[in-house]
Amino acid sequence: MTKRSIFHPAGHRLVYASANRYGDPVKIPLPATLTLYAECASGDIRALAAKPGDALTAGQLLLAPDENVPALVAPAAGKLLAVEDFAGDFGRSCTAFRMAADAEGPQDDTFARRAEKPSLEVLKRFLSGIPGAPPLDLFGDAARGRIDTLVVCGVDSDLLVVTNQYVMANRAADIKRGVEILRQATGVDQIVGVVLRDRIQGFGHLGMELRAVEPRHPAAMPAKIMHDVFGRTVPAGSECRDVGAAFFKAEAVAAIGRAFDSGRPPASKLMTLIDKRGRGCLVEAVLGTPLKVIFEALDIEIHDRDRIIIGGPMTGSAVYSEDFPVQTDTDAVMVQDGADVPLYSSYPCINCGECVRICPARIPVNMLVRFLEAAQYETAAAEYDLYACMECGLCSYVCTARIPIFQYIRLAKHELEHMQSLEAAHG
Ligand code: SF4
Ligand code: SF4
Repeated sequence: MTKRSIFHPAGHRLVYASANRYGDPVKIPLPATLTLYAECASGDIRALAAKPGDALTAGQLLLAPDENVPALVAPAAGKLLAVEDFAGDFGRSCTAFRMAADAEGPQDDTFARRAEKPSLEVLKRFLSGIPGAPPLDLFGDAARGRIDTLVVCGVDSDLLVVTNQYVMANRAADIKRGVEILRQATGVDQIVGVVLRDRIQGFGHLGMELRAVEPRHPAAMPAKIMHDVFGRTVPAGSECRDVGAAFFKAEAVAAIGRAFDSGRPPASKLMTLIDKRGRGCLVEAVLGTPLKVIFEALDIEIHDRDRIIIGGPMTGSAVYSEDFPVQTDTDAVMVQDGADVPLYSSYPCINCGECVRICPARIPVNMLVRFLEAAQYETAAAEYDLYACMECGLCSYVCTARIPIFQYIRLAKHELEHMQSLEAAHG
């Protein structure tokens, strides 16, 4: 395997946006139907907490968490219409819960009764599916290793996206309460907030230490934060949790604080919406809201060749339907005009070296891409540092031949993970 020390200064200037320019969020009305996705096959679900046809209260558990499935909570009152198989990213098996929503319906009080005594068990059972998708599964499992640092990200790791930056600056009381609860429930003392260096002033009362990162991509990516801020290198093929850190988005921490103060699991997701002209605004919609409802509210028309991207311009992924719903980790939605969608060519790599020069992980991307294009994923991993990639998207951005390198990398990692799980299942 090629061994390289990771991270070197790149000479580009792709700077993160400032939330100050985005104004307050536009609130999207509750739509008639909501769709929630659980990242597990329906066959892995042992017992549904509600079945199609049941009336639902807001905050009612739809799926109790176990080792195979995450918790799923009804974001509004209404009626469960259907539970269906659904193919997620790369054909991953998921289950979709479709429900009719009723803004006037009753609120479930089970969480309110349990919220009097914050504990990891209560957090995992009721709040693992709240906005910001808190990674609560990292705690209380000895097999996953000990977490000694909890990082609260008040930065967003893609250009033009300001969702967590906005929450950090505007929901201080909720964040402070969320930090207290996480400290109590997880037993982790070192809780550190991360903000952009040019906006570090004014965060004095959040109940945690603050550190700053440079406002230039990819400084806000978790592996880079671990390296630059905490002096811990995440080895290739490992994740931040393997070096003792759990990354919580500021929105997740604020949602935990609000849940315990109000007795209700929050259900409104904040997102940055980037329109066809590259203009950004913040929107707030109930989890499960179809994207087309948001586009209609903002007068954004989607035509045949336009592209809808979940995430920002460097690391987002296209989805193929306006019916795609807002999920707990949907921090940004970007719409590209069909006329502006960059065409990926079938030109081969011309070995210009741009990708190698810009890669913050010092991967020999020009070599890696040859094996990815040939679907030789095991060689790509064993000899060309596939797993050192932190998925910043810079290589695709600069590629002279317009090769979709970043997409190849994500596909390769998925295929290898799939192969490993098949091998494990068949002994
Ligand atoms: S996405 Fe590309 S540039 Fe970024 S770390 Fe991975 S290989 Fe390097
Ligand atoms: S930037 Fe594109 S064309 Fe240039 S060496 Fe890298 S993969 Fe090849």
